[in-house]
Amino acid sequence: IQDGMMDGVNFEDDSSVEFEKSMAESAFEKLQDDRKTLPVYPYRDALLQAVHDHQVLVIVGETGSGKTTQIPQYLHEGGYTKRGKIGCTQPRRVAAMSVAARVSQEMGVKLGHEVLGRNNHSLVCQVGYSIRFEDCTSDKTVLKYMTDGMLLREFLGEPDLSSYSVVMVDEAHERTLSTDILFGLVKDIARFRPDLKLLISSATLDAEKFSDYFDSAPIFKIPGRRFPVEINYTKAPEADYLDAAIVTALQIHVTQPCDGDILIFFTGQEEIETAEEILKHRTRGLGTKIAELIICPIYANLPTELQAKIFEPTPESARKVVLATNIAETSLTIDGIKYVIDPGFCKMKSYNPRTGMESLLVHPISKASANQRAGRSGRTGPGKCFRLYTAYNYYNDLEDNTVPEIQRTNLANVVLSLKSLGIHDLLNFDFMDPPPSEALLKALELLFALSALNKLGELTKVGRKMAEFPLDPMLSKMIVASEKYKCSDEVISIAAMLSIGSSIFYRPKDKQVHADNARMIFHTGNVGDHIALLKVYNSWRETNFSTQWCYENYIQVRSMKRARDIRDQLEGLLERVEIELTSNFNDLEAIKKAITSGYFPHSARMQKNGSYRTVKHPQTVYIHPSSGLAQALPRWVVYHELVLTSKEYMRQRKSNVGGVPLRLLRKAIALANVNQVENVLLKARSTKTNTGIEELVPDSGVLANGMGD
Ligand code: ADP
Ligand code: MG
Repeated sequence: IQDGMMDGVNFEDDSSVEFEKSMAESAFEKLQDDRKTLPVYPYRDALLQAVHDHQVLVIVGETGSGKTTQIPQYLHEGGYTKRGKIGCTQPRRVAAMSVAARVSQEMGVKLGHEVLGRNNHSLVCQVGYSIRFEDCTSDKTVLKYMTDGMLLREFLGEPDLSSYSVVMVDEAHERTLSTDILFGLVKDIARFRPDLKLLISSATLDAEKFSDYFDSAPIFKIPGRRFPVEINYTKAPEADYLDAAIVTALQIHVTQPCDGDILIFFTGQEEIETAEEILKHRTRGLGTKIAELIICPIYANLPTELQAKIFEPTPESARKVVLATNIAETSLTIDGIKYVIDPGFCKMKSYNPRTGMESLLVHPISKASANQRAGRSGRTGPGKCFRLYTAYNYYNDLEDNTVPEIQRTNLANVVLSLKSLGIHDLLNFDFMDPPPSEALLKALELLFALSALNKLGELTKVGRKMAEFPLDPMLSKMIVASEKYKCSDEVISIAAMLSIGSSIFYRPKDKQVHADNARMIFHTGNVGDHIALLKVYNSWRETNFSTQWCYENYIQVRSMKRARDIRDQLEGLLERVEIELTSNFNDLEAIKKAITSGYFPHSARMQKNGSYRTVKHPQTVYIHPSSGLAQALPRWVVYHELVLTSKEYMRQRKSNVGGVPLRLLRKAIALANVNQVENVLLKARSTKTNTGIEELVPDSGVLANGMGD
């Protein structure tokens, strides 16, 4: 044993521990100084006073002024955590995680766990975050950042949010579906919980609307520091905005002094990855005279350890270019941005309540978004924004504001949650902007068909169980149904694999044939994509979750680990709803029946020409080429989702439902007229309908999923 070494553990000598401590302390002090430079800092006491004086407060301040990171800390310092937690909601997962990480640094505590702090005092104050399938909090957590969807779920377990002393609904201007529902719920509980403080914070100035909704709550404005931003438009519309964005970025990099970073807004991960590749390729040839260009992507599925990279200070001799989705519009502030490149698009959900078809399409942004984006360049000094569209487009074609999500989405999930909260009269729920009543009707109809609601619209036993799962109702129904078919073990694996949110199969450009061959092994026997996913999961489990196995089979390790995490949680939830974990792997029919009892509303029948006709709201669709059934063409299929590309493909996941009781399919057909539910609704119908909904006609525009090729 060498000096200071024991069993491979390296004991540092005291001086280096001391050194690290003092480094940590000076970093900590620097963070404290930084906190004091934020625009919100001078208003700290006034803000605390206003919170003291009013139960509900609307807070408005520019992005980057310190609302999200500072206000919960002020309230903590002001004593509000003595009698409960402070919850702060974010529409985006990445924002919740990243902001929580930052705040825990500023407070000198570890995220989610109790640690001994400076001077060895146990730090009472704890920061954590909670996002779907990832709870990074402890019973010591007092500042809790979470997605709006998670707070919504907390209502199910704690309808009066009694463990909270303050709820801050942050990024309210984003008007996500969950945020809109939260508005109604928190407004309601504030009435019988006078001790609860409610903060509604927003980056835009349309605060009047929030104030009106919350019974004329006072508005607290944090004056921003905004430097002038020079706006540039293109002379003619750009045919290829991705390329135009890259060319613009390189022009800036080559011609402008490298004291300002660049932020480019793209619509999603695929575009960002493509742009990253092209940028890397084109900067290679620039030679040593040009400063280094550091490329930092940021999007929802970016692995956590890479997310922090965008916040690292840029070295003096280099320039950073951040390739971001909408997340950098208001949710995250990256210091040092001087140039913004705005192609003018984002991905947006739209929903057709008539057909029940939901899709994620690339869509022009609103004027409000364009202005937020431009503003990102003027935080620390004068900035420049390059809009890759014409001034004419901006003034004449862009909508003023984005339509709230509640008016363009499928409501089944939210309706199930509200029902299980005991809110029956949905039409009279206090919506800030009501959803189209067709969409509510559609949601009720689907839940009725899934046996989650009875014909009076009341929650059934099945529905109560379904509501426990943080999943789409069809997916939770599939799990609940697995009890009957004694295959819950298999079905939660499938559900977990369907919930990962990133792709499972790895398909490198130079090894596509190998990758495809490896993938096809899981499809042997044309078992359908669900069963193939199950085979992938089970094979991995048999290797004791081997990383090597993933490499050999062209499977993404990271995705699989996530699937395992999700599966563990679903297993816990099974226990909660008292469904036994039973395995029935050899009975594929049983598994398919369970899938079908959730997904029968998504069944389709093959036509003579190899296309499919959906059963409900008949329309012609095609099996996506990436599906294992693309060649097999079974007579009947159920699909996980429809995606709109150049053809209306049924995405990847389909199961051959040959052998599934026709009764279920008939049930699907009979659904076309569920009179009772409709009658219940029609009687009560009173809400405004609105026309924000787009018809989903395939067009030649840019498509959401790069599968058009
Ligand atoms: P607001 O909510 O008003 O938009 P924030 O509280 O998010 O403002 O941001 C305040 C400051 O904290 C900004 O300067 C931002 O750059 C910094 N910040 C926020 N999150 C992080 C992070 N994860 N890492 C480094 N800095 C961060
Ligand atoms: Mg914020």
